Amino acid sequence: MLSKDDILAALASVPGPDGKTPLNQSGAIDGVTIRDGKVFVAIRVHPARARELEGMRAAAEARIKALAGVASALVTLTAESEGAPAPAAAGGHAHRRGPETRAIPGVAKIIAVASGKGGVGKSTTACNLALGLAALGLKVGVLDADVFGPSMPRLFGVSGKPDLAPDGQKLKPMEAFGVKLMSIGFLVDENAAVVWRGPMVMSALNQFLREVEWGELDVLVVDMPPGTGDAQLTMAQNVPLSGAVIVSTPQDLSLIDARRGMAMFRQVNVPLIGVVENMSYFICPHCGGRSDIFAHGGARHEAEAHGAPFLGEIPLDMTIRETSDGGAPIVVSAPASPQAKAYLAVAERVREALFAGAAQRAAPRIVIE
Ligand code: ADP
Repeated sequence: MLSKDDILAALASVPGPDGKTPLNQSGAIDGVTIRDGKVFVAIRVHPARARELEGMRAAAEARIKALAGVASALVTLTAESEGAPAPAAAGGHAHRRGPETRAIPGVAKIIAVASGKGGVGKSTTACNLALGLAALGLKVGVLDADVFGPSMPRLFGVSGKPDLAPDGQKLKPMEAFGVKLMSIGFLVDENAAVVWRGPMVMSALNQFLREVEWGELDVLVVDMPPGTGDAQLTMAQNVPLSGAVIVSTPQDLSLIDARRGMAMFRQVNVPLIGVVENMSYFICPHCGGRSDIFAHGGARHEAEAHGAPFLGEIPLDMTIRETSDGGAPIVVSAPASPQAKAYLAVAERVREALFAGAAQRAAPRIVIE
């Protein structure tokens, strides 16, 4: 298994920003994340030196790519400035909300859709939930913050590159089915380590939040990267979230992960809107019979035991998979289907939580470390 130490060791042969101290000892490494052999490293530099340090960035990336077990590597330069969000503390015990939690003008609510682990249908749920909220008449945007596995372009069937807004500064979000969309997938090819505009990690997310012309939105749905590591914690901490939705499958293992997800948002004082149980039961496409493949109802039980509202269950269903992989999400392609109705029911509960006062954040609690 590839470890953080392997990555750092590989960077010992690359001179750091001062041109001599090895990068791994330079103190400039801001974060190393590894997922499924994909490595993401942030190097903190002064923004004025970003261009000049491109060689260092490229060398670091090449060293990492050369390691056995590395499928892809993305090294970015993160602006070093006082306003830059602090990385999560090494032990993950960061309680403070980050400095970038000021509201985004025009955007009423920002919610995170998160999961304790990958593959539970988080992105599919985020996509259909967003479309469900739009179907309820809300103005909705989706920010795909899963830098490792951006799936919103596929889910919404959108490709191409976003244009610059008329002001020449901000990016115009893409749009599909009446929902505004931004994804790192529109900007960075999976393999090419292209980094746009003086390249950043958490700052990338902040750029997506603040340098995209979202316009007036009732809800911005943020599809978080799966898991509860430092990267997720930092995001949860640095985005002005009104609440979080956790997606879980009924299996025990994933519930343990879901619990970690709930704990993560609690830690950073983001209210839990609730839990969605995905792949909850199976409707046979041939006979219409229902089978509870997994011990169905686990997520409801778990959510309630932890004081989080239960938002609904989504069946494990062939059409959901086909439509989401085919860029025609079920909420818009078959809005009258029982599957779409399951998502709409979740959307109604989320809307209620956001706008009927239930999950509204009390005055932020300040935790002094
Ligand atoms: P995650 O974001 O958690 O990694 P995805 O949303 O990408 O998960 O879903 C993983 C796979 O499972 C995709 O192929 C998706 O189409 C499929 N999927 C998600 N939810 C369902 C569901 N309720 N029924 C059937 N397939 C589903």
